[in-house]
Amino acid sequence: MQLPLIDRQQRLQLLSQHPSLYGSNLAAAAATITQTAAEVLAVDRVTLWMYTADAQFQQIDSYRRDQDTHVAGAVIAVADCAQYFEQLGDRSGLVVENVAEAASCSDGLIGVLVRQNYVLHHPGALLEMPVRRHGKVVGALWCECALARRWTALDRVFVLSIALHMTTAIEAQQQQALLTAVKIHERQLKRETIEREQAEQAWQESQRFIHGIIDASTNILYVDSIADGSNVYISRWLTNVLGYEPEDLRKLGAHYLEQLVHWEEKAKMILERRKLATISDGEVVENEYRFRHRQGHWRWLLCRETIFQRDDQGNPTQIFGTATDITKLKRAEANLQAFNQELTRLAHMDGLTQVANRRSFDDYLAKAWQNVGQGHSSLSLILCDIDYFKSYNDTYGHQAGDECLKRVAKTIEQSARRSNDLVARYGGEEFAVILPNTHQLGVTRVAQEIQRQVRQLAIPHSQSQVSNQITLSLGISSVSSTEEVHPEMLIAAADRGLYRAKFEGRDRCCFTEIGPHQSQ
Ligand code: GH3
Ligand code: MG
Ligand code: MG
Repeated sequence: MQLPLIDRQQRLQLLSQHPSLYGSNLAAAAATITQTAAEVLAVDRVTLWMYTADAQFQQIDSYRRDQDTHVAGAVIAVADCAQYFEQLGDRSGLVVENVAEAASCSDGLIGVLVRQNYVLHHPGALLEMPVRRHGKVVGALWCECALARRWTALDRVFVLSIALHMTTAIEAQQQQALLTAVKIHERQLKRETIEREQAEQAWQESQRFIHGIIDASTNILYVDSIADGSNVYISRWLTNVLGYEPEDLRKLGAHYLEQLVHWEEKAKMILERRKLATISDGEVVENEYRFRHRQGHWRWLLCRETIFQRDDQGNPTQIFGTATDITKLKRAEANLQAFNQELTRLAHMDGLTQVANRRSFDDYLAKAWQNVGQGHSSLSLILCDIDYFKSYNDTYGHQAGDECLKRVAKTIEQSARRSNDLVARYGGEEFAVILPNTHQLGVTRVAQEIQRQVRQLAIPHSQSQVSNQITLSLGISSVSSTEEVHPEMLIAAADRGLYRAKFEGRDRCCFTEIGPHQSQ
């Protein structure tokens, strides 16, 4: 039994307000539509078909009124029923009052549907209404009866309006899908924004961390351009070491380091920087330079430099360096050097008289001998001995004796004025003077000068048997060729001279020739 018109209109109005038509679930909307259509038209089955993306006709919902059941999912391959689908887009619906009859007709439009049991056909009736969206057929609504039926114009209008509701439902579903997609996209965008912000924050924190480490380093870290030697980056430790702010150095512009380095190291720096451009990655070049502190004094820095960046062709563009303040180390080094020099000096000096000791005498004589050996010059030697010194000690005491030795040593040193003359304490109260490049005449003059100066000291010696003051006896010898002679012979000759001076009455100089017949 078909519903009266008034009820049909009421059902249509209810359908148009049904929430399932405006939701995101197309299947639910289809089920509402098929059931409403079946009940209002009093047909046995209403099916909603829709094209899929892969050219199939898919059953969205099919309602059997006698069983009050919904099924879905059946699929018709469009290619298999080509005749039916060919004109579906062009027609404004199909009205078949007797399906079995129509199937046997020559046009065969629905014959293929019948043969494949897609429509009811005992004999059956079919009212087909295309479902359109934006003017394009996207599906079809089939209203079917098991028996033949005469479809009225009202039936058709009614099915058309139901099909329009289906279009509304499709639109709503599409909008919902779009809205959902937009929401998902928005959420994703928000998430990405948050992630980006978090990444940015993490990056800034890591930057702060790295700069914290760099600033805490007790070395100056710097990056310079190789092309013009300007500064690209320099750490804040610079201020502690050289007093400048990083900006001060950047203002110096090209070759800023050459403007700060000590002039004695400037040429070396230019050379080393050139060398640096040719080294391979990982190699480190170390140099020590003095740099001017902002307040004018100098600081020693140990610079370790390596290649930091290269261009596409592999040419170095930037260097990275660390500079360590080694000023204290340098000072300590200088002190140590001075200390070592002092130690060496002391090791070669007589502690009491402050003239060279016996070891220095031996070394110096050996060296001076080598020069004579090359035939360039002559070498002379004086041995001095204080006369009656034992009795001096006995008379004035050992301490006075020491003082006397010191004064005599100093006097001898003042008398042998040449820079390469060496005065040494040869033994207890004996002194020796080595005089390189000095002949017999010259050495005799020096010996006489020593004697004269010691006399001038006028150190009283009441127990001396040759004077009432301290006197010296001196033995002199000289050599101008080292052929067949050796240093001991020079000493022996001087010693003989000294012996003669003592023997002949003391307080005098005696020269003794050196000769093989006189060797010991
Ligand atoms: P001569 O005129 O023959 O040289 O007589 P002399 O007394 O000087 O000679 P001698 O060799 O008998 O005595 C040398 C003395 O020098 C003995 C020693 O007490 C003294 N003497 C040696 N070294 C030192 C020293 O370092 N300090 C003092 N005060 N005396 C020293
Ligand atoms: Mg003596
Ligand atoms: Mg003596």
